[in-house]
Amino acid sequence: MFSDQIISWYQLNKRDLPWRRTKDPYKVWLSEIILQQTRVAQGLPYYKIFIETFPKLQDLARASEQEVLKLWQGLGYYSRARNMHATARHIYSDLNGTFPNTYSELLKLKGVGDYTASAIASFCYREATPVLDGNVYRVLSRYFGINIPIDTGKAKKEFKSLALELIDISNPGLFNQAIMEFGSLQCTPVQPNCQKCPLNDSCVALQKRQVGILPQKSKKIKIKKRFFNYLVVETNTNKTLIKQRKGKGIWKNLYEFPLIETENRINFKQLIQNIDFINFIKEQDFQLKECTPSQIVHKLSHQHLHIKFWVVNLKSFDQELIPWREVKEYPFPIVLHNFIVDFLKQKKQ
Ligand code: SF4
Repeated sequence: MFSDQIISWYQLNKRDLPWRRTKDPYKVWLSEIILQQTRVAQGLPYYKIFIETFPKLQDLARASEQEVLKLWQGLGYYSRARNMHATARHIYSDLNGTFPNTYSELLKLKGVGDYTASAIASFCYREATPVLDGNVYRVLSRYFGINIPIDTGKAKKEFKSLALELIDISNPGLFNQAIMEFGSLQCTPVQPNCQKCPLNDSCVALQKRQVGILPQKSKKIKIKKRFFNYLVVETNTNKTLIKQRKGKGIWKNLYEFPLIETENRINFKQLIQNIDFINFIKEQDFQLKECTPSQIVHKLSHQHLHIKFWVVNLKSFDQELIPWREVKEYPFPIVLHNFIVDFLKQKKQ
């Protein structure tokens, strides 16, 4: 039977991961939020540092958003961190610190969708709620030869009801962990290990030679190109200017240098003629230098950011500046953080 085989495989092959040794919903929730859109190898150190810094829900609830974003720095999809922090505060102050213990109550939490609610409800409270992540879609789609595009509402319904039929109701958490791990290690997106797969005598995709084309997707992600010019202010007082990003869009509440976004890549001459640059400088004397490398391409899931850093030397500046030595204490997108580290090294030399 499918679920028995998956569970037996899991018991022999599973990785020993810290969140698998606990039923504490706070820790499971933290791990699930970190692991969304993140590989285990990348997420593991973040999980450890979060648990070390905020061992209990109330520790996370009492922290400032800036502290949380700083620890999250480099993981991307920062709304996960902001929502997680808001949810910790909500549970702590509105729910007396008690984690909701059913799928439907968990689903009401900010940042907790069907996947995370199912994971916590099944792992911690043995509720038979199947999880559907990319790994599960892939395993089910291949094993049962289902070619409905997995990025559609129809697929969500069909796969959910199939998973509900398959789930081991005596141990739903174990089944969910097993199928996800199976997708992650055995039935991988590229070059799945079909030869040594315990399901290979009944796998439809293998029989029909469809392993390479399943699962199917209907939409191609449209990648938008954006051009960011960061103005790195330098003054005689060894201070610079940073700003917090506001509004919707990427990197909300993280910090950055003053930004001029343009429609295309621009050169020195085009920058000094740019209206935003002119307004920024306000008729002061300045020296401008383009930093190397001349352009960094930072790839996000739906956007490719073409980033240039420009050092602007100014005698004085009428906005509140902060000392360079304090800059690293603020949460920055990782591409800016890396720039700052290199820039400060060069300044010291
Ligand atoms: S036989 Fe291959 S495609 Fe089928 S479930 Fe196993 S690893 Fe996946």
